This record gives sequence, C-alpha cells and structure tokens, in this order.
Amino acid sequence: MENKRVRLRFAPSPTGGLHMGGVRTALFSYLFAKKHKGDFVLRIEDTDQTRYVNGAEEYIINSLKWCGIEPNEGVGFGDGPHAPYRQSERKELGIYKKYAEQLITSGHAYYAFDTSEELDAMRKRLEAAKVVAPQYNAVTRQNMRNSLTLSDDEVKKIMDAGTPFVVRLKVPRNEEIRFHDIIRGWVVVNSTQVDDKVLLKSDGMPTYHLAHIVDDIEMEISHAVRGEEWLPSAPAHILIYRYLNCEDKMPLFAHLPLILKPDGNGKLSKRDKSGIPMFPLNWHDERTGESYVGYCESGFFPEAFVNMLAMLGWNPGTTQEIFSMDELIEAFSFERVNKSGAKFDPEKTKWFNQQYLRRREDSKLADQFFDDALKCCTIGFTNPTSELKSISLFANENIPAEINEEPFSVENKNNYNWLKRLSDQSNKGFVAKIRIHVKENFSNKVISVDNIKFNYQNASSNIIPFAAKDGADIINEFILGKNLTFDLAPNETIAITFLWTDFGKAFSFEYVTNVCRLVKEKAHFVSEFWDNSKYFFIAPTTYDAEVRKKRLTPQTADFIKEVTEAFKELNTFSAVETEATFKTVAEKSGVGSGQVMQLFRVSITGVGGGPALFEIVELLGKEEVVNRLDTFSKNNFL
Ligand code: GLU
Repeated sequence: MENKRVRLRFAPSPTGGLHMGGVRTALFSYLFAKKHKGDFVLRIEDTDQTRYVNGAEEYIINSLKWCGIEPNEGVGFGDGPHAPYRQSERKELGIYKKYAEQLITSGHAYYAFDTSEELDAMRKRLEAAKVVAPQYNAVTRQNMRNSLTLSDDEVKKIMDAGTPFVVRLKVPRNEEIRFHDIIRGWVVVNSTQVDDKVLLKSDGMPTYHLAHIVDDIEMEISHAVRGEEWLPSAPAHILIYRYLNCEDKMPLFAHLPLILKPDGNGKLSKRDKSGIPMFPLNWHDERTGESYVGYCESGFFPEAFVNMLAMLGWNPGTTQEIFSMDELIEAFSFERVNKSGAKFDPEKTKWFNQQYLRRREDSKLADQFFDDALKCCTIGFTNPTSELKSISLFANENIPAEINEEPFSVENKNNYNWLKRLSDQSNKGFVAKIRIHVKENFSNKVISVDNIKFNYQNASSNIIPFAAKDGADIINEFILGKNLTFDLAPNETIAITFLWTDFGKAFSFEYVTNVCRLVKEKAHFVSEFWDNSKYFFIAPTTYDAEVRKKRLTPQTADFIKEVTEAFKELNTFSAVETEATFKTVAEKSGVGSGQVMQLFRVSITGVGGGPALFEIVELLGKEEVVNRLDTFSKNNFL
C-alpha cells in the first residue's frame, strides 16, 4: 500500500443533478489527491439505466469545472490510461462479467432465478415472522430458487431455456468482517447483517457493488471516498475484494459524514427551503420536471462555495476559516474529517460569499456588476444576396432623412432576433435602419465598455473595430447617433448583441470600479450593488422622509445652501477637503456637524445609509454634488 500511487476517483451516477453533498465528496477526494501529488479520476457509474437522466453527466462535468475541482483523468476531462470511464461502455467490453464468473467459479457467487413475486412473498413471510430486516441471505436463500438449492441439471435446464437470472454474492453465515475506515477507524460487522447482494442484474448489467470494485481495482484506485450511505454495504465490498483475491488492491475507505439540515434534524434535503441553493449550477430535471437554482446563478463565487463546503465536516484544527484552493490542498487530511454529521448553515454560507466579495478586486467586481446590470438584445443580420453588402446601424433619432426606413419584421430563431426584410428590394443595397425599442430612448442608455459583442460566422475582413475595453467613445458615438457601417459577404450571417444598462448616462469603467469599492463592504452579493448604488448613477428624486422630518429645519436648510456655496469655491474636491469644508461651515453656522450629517447625505443620495459619505462626495465630483445640493434646496421641503 505504502508505495501505491495516490489515485482517487469521483464516481457519480448520472441519475440527477449533482447536489452539494456530491460536490463535497468530489472536493475532499480532489484535495487529498492533489496534496499527495496523485490523480483524480472522474468515472461515470451509469449501470442503472432505469434511473439515467439526460443531461446529468454534462451537468456533473460543468459543475466540477465551475468549482475548479478538475479531474486529470476521466469522462469529460480527456480520458486516460484506463478508458473508457463510463461503466456502460466498460460493460460492453465484458469487464464485469469476467469478474462475476470468477466469483461463481470459486464458489463465492451463485445464480438466482427468483421472480419478483417470489421475492415479495419471501419478504412477506419474513415480516409475518417478525424478522426485523428481511433479506436474501445465508439462511433465506435455502428456500429460494438458485444454483445453491437446485441441482446442476435443473440449473442448466433453466439457463438453457433463457430464464432471466441474477448473480448474487454468497455471504457466509455468522462471520466477523473487519475493515479500517480512515475517518471512522476499525469497523466490525457480523456477516449475518449482510445480504447476498446482487452483483449482475438480469439485463447483464453489473450493480454498483460489483462494478465499482472491478473499476477501483482496474483503475488502481488507492482511496475510495464516498458518502456515509455506503457504509452498510462496505462489509459486502470487503468480502468481494477477498473473494477476488484482490485484498492487496483494495483501496483505503473513507466514508464521509452526512450534511445535516440547519437544525441538525436529519439529512439535508435537496428541497431545503433555507433560500440557499443546494446545487452548484441551475439544474432542471427533465424526468421529474423539477428545477433547482444553483450557487453560480445565485451570485456565489465558486471559491466561496468551495471554501464553505470544505468546512462542512472538515476543520483545519486552527481558527482559520478562509482558505484558497491551494491552502485547502495544503491543509487537508481525512483525520480532521468529523465522524458525525455536519450542520449546514445558510447564514454562514452567505458570510463566506461576503468574505470573498470583500477580497475581490474592485475592477473584477465592476465587470460583474456591468454584466449583472446589463440587459441585452441580439439582432441577427444575414446577407442573402450573392454580392458584398453594407449594413449601417443608426440610433433612433439620428437617422439621416435620405435613408428610407425599410420595413422589417423581427423573428426569434436560435435565440437571436432576426430582422427580416419585408420588402423585396434586394437589388437596392442593404441598409437597415434600426430602432431599438427596448426602451423609448436608446440614446441615453450607457453601454459598458466591452458590451457590444460581435458574433459572426464567415466574417469578412471588413468588420469594424469597436467594443474594445478602452473604446467606450466609439460605443458612445454609436449611441449618440453616428452610424456604424460594416460589410456582409454573400450569405454571411452576423449577430450583434446590444447590451445596455439603465445608468442614464455614460460612466467610465474606472468610475464604476470605484462605486464597487465603496458598496462592496456591506454586500453579500454583487447583485445587491445596483440597489445600493443607484444614486451614484442617477440623481435622487425622492429623499428619505424620516430624515427630513427629523433633521430639516430652517437652520439646517440654510446650512445645506451654505455648504453648497462653499463647495463651489473648492479647487480640489477630495473626501478630505470636502469633509473639512463641511465641518468649517457647520461650525460657522452653529449647527453641530453630527446634526446635519445625515440630512446632507440624504440631500445627495436620497437615502439615509450607505458607504462613507465624503467618499461618495469625492466620487460623484464637484459638479454633480453641487447640482444635487441645489436641487435639494430648490425642492424647498420646509
Ligand atoms: N455511484 C455511486 C454514487 O453515486 C458512487 C459511490 C462511490 O463513490 O463509490 O453514490
């Protein structure tokens, strides 16, 4: 064992979306494999065809990718020396049958011909006799139809007649089975508690019990990490390794504790109602029609999700809570995984995201903020003629008079809105006058710097260069009405995605980055930014009534006017400078600055709370602040 290369596998069944418990199993295996410079393998255990769910395999792969838990071998990750990694494909190669036959030959497995009615009848008989857990075992199999109770001739006859059969493990009666679990220590079970597990089903498919053992042996797996629900089956697995003479190839076992409901009562359900997702990505189950939201789509950072999962059942033995993936790899060990279940904590989960949000670079947050706040509409164009044609786009109110608007209809196809010419004027050039009706007035919609995305097929070389990160001007030119013209080759198709926000006017990327810097402290998710930062983009039109009622007096109203005048005189408009000016004016006019601070905030932002006030003032800039203060005073709320 000591010299064995460390190889762990994650072996999900594609019977549904991978929920967070499954991701945690993958994570712990990944961490251990990486720590020991070993391999991490993805094997798809799809032998139960009746439970197969379309899309589940792809979902598993995408989820692992999103989490950064990437296998270096296996389905979806480039395969490797033990391909194929899908059990249904391995079955076709006869891999499992060989092992089942070996067990039959050595007398450790047998054929069973019982119909489901006969099995039912057995169960009922045992229940009537008050047997607690009725099972097919060393005692009961003696009254059933199998190759142990029937003569060889009878067995041959039944098999020749094509009667369906299964292969069962022959578990000995009253024998002690011991094995070591890295998390639980020594586990001792008497074989009377173990049933004669089906190894091969009547359709020739192996069950999990046989298939995973064969694969763990052949794939040279050193550690088998799986959920606690497999612990009761582990003794049967130990026997199978023994009967195959493969005990030296048996991986070390680690059965992970359950993830419990927030109140600690029972296993966490995928239908948990805490408002925190149970799945890494959005999951829609085609079979049941159920949909689940994902961590990703709910605005969690993958790093936060992974960090939170790692702490569910594992602890580093220190007070450190925030771990990067590399730090987890460094710190992880199965010895520090608890035996008992780990309570899921929805609040703590949000807290992790908040920690990562605070640590994230402001410019990255700004990128995401843009994406979140952006609305989009994609228009497709195609050139159906055999000549090169030009397309021009105009913003609403800047359409030159000499251009006749062509009648178009809009059709949605392949997620694009296609503009379809209605008139047959193909000989008259190809000028589209675009009116974007997503909002009445397109011209005041700001487009983030990199937000016109060009998707094109068969692109001609004449695509105009716009939408570069620093190229906001070009986009603004378009918004302001300068047309964009580009050529379409014959049959070329192009789709332009227009993205815009409701910001009201153009803001630089740097400005938005600074807004993110200020609002991130109080947020758990980037999706909260817009509500908490609207006033950075749009001047307030309403002002917190409570604060006005409490703080607005003729004297404080005068103060606002005085501070406005003083601000007008400032040459540099930094937080430090404006705060000093504010204090001086407050002192002079005899109002305590504490008394007017909140009113001042409301006059600028409309709301009573938010980031450091003079940071806001600095960022908004002198002109905007002065305008807002003036507007507030003119409202004359007194
Ligand atoms: N296919 C099994 C499951 O999805 C895998 C268990 C194991 O890792 O051995 O639960």
